[in-house]
Parts: sequence; structure tokens; C-alpha cells
Amino acid sequence: MQQDPRSAAASGKDFPYRMQTLCYIEVHKDGRVTHGRDNGTYERARSGESTLYAVWPGNYRSDLFIIDDLDEYAGAFGIIHDQERTGLADHVHDVKWQRSSIEDKPRAQYTWIEVELLCGCTVKDLDTFAAQMNKQKGWNVATSGGWGSSGMPGGKQTYSFRVRRKSLES
Ligand SMILES: [Zn+2]
Repeated sequence: MQQDPRSAAASGKDFPYRMQTLCYIEVHKDGRVTHGRDNGTYERARSGESTLYAVWPGNYRSDLFIIDDLDEYAGAFGIIHDQERTGLADHVHDVKWQRSSIEDKPRAQYTWIEVELLCGCTVKDLDTFAAQMNKQKGWNVATSGGWGSSGMPGGKQTYSFRVRRKSLES
């Protein structure tokens, strides 16, 4: 039985654009088929040079989706800034930070810091926050491993991040 691909747009924010096991398939205008994605995928799909699909693997069957909401796709990969997804405005954050008193090993490459965003942003996407802090403060925030937040919704929120010690000192 043949079926049309399902719509990624219909899944909205639930579509796992960044899932490791998702297989992107790009069908180019000239009929060429490639898989995976590169820096040009978004532009090609947006301009109609190609059509982007993805296979979402499941336990018993896999589904083919057409990536028909390219803004969601671009937001998920940080190609365009997505404030709703990341919780972060596209601005220079007003950051209050201090070194964490816990686990300070002076010779470790990374150290923990506690951060408060006075500008009212929240951190929902660590990759985006790390990229912004790298540009704005020169920090190297570790994006693998743990980070945390504490505080009450609507109240003061404090985050803990692992940051390369040297990048704090520069
Ligand atoms: Zn902010």
C-alpha cells in the first residue's frame, strides 16, 4: 500500500528535528537524492531547489515525513533564532553570575558557575545559550553533561552551568 508522506508541520513542536536517529532525505530538483543535511539544506529547501523529507524510525515501523515547516526546522537547528523554543531573546543578555561554591577543583578544566538572567530570558535550549554566551562573553559552556536550574516558576531562576575555567578569565 502506498501512502503520502506525513506532515512534520502537523506535529508542530513535537516533531523531533534533532533526534540522532532521524534520517533526512533531500530530493533535489534534478532528481538526485541525498541523505543527511548540510549548511545549505535549509536554503535549498526554502528556495524550492530541493524538497526535504525525514524518516522517523519507530519500534515496529518507520514513517516518512515531509519537512513542510522549514521555520521549525531552522529554529530547531539554530539556523534562525526561535525565541519560543529556546526561551532566549536574540539580544545581549543581562547576566549576573558567580562561581559556584560547590565542587571547586582549581585544576579542573571546567568549573561550575551560577547564572541569573536579569533580562527575563529562560534557558530551554543549552546549545543556543552556549552559542550566545560564547559570542557575548567569550565563555565556553559545556553542552554535554549536566546543567541545572532551580527556582520557582515566575520567580527568581538560577542556573548552573559547566564552563571552561580559562574562558571565564579572559
Ligand atoms: Zn536575555
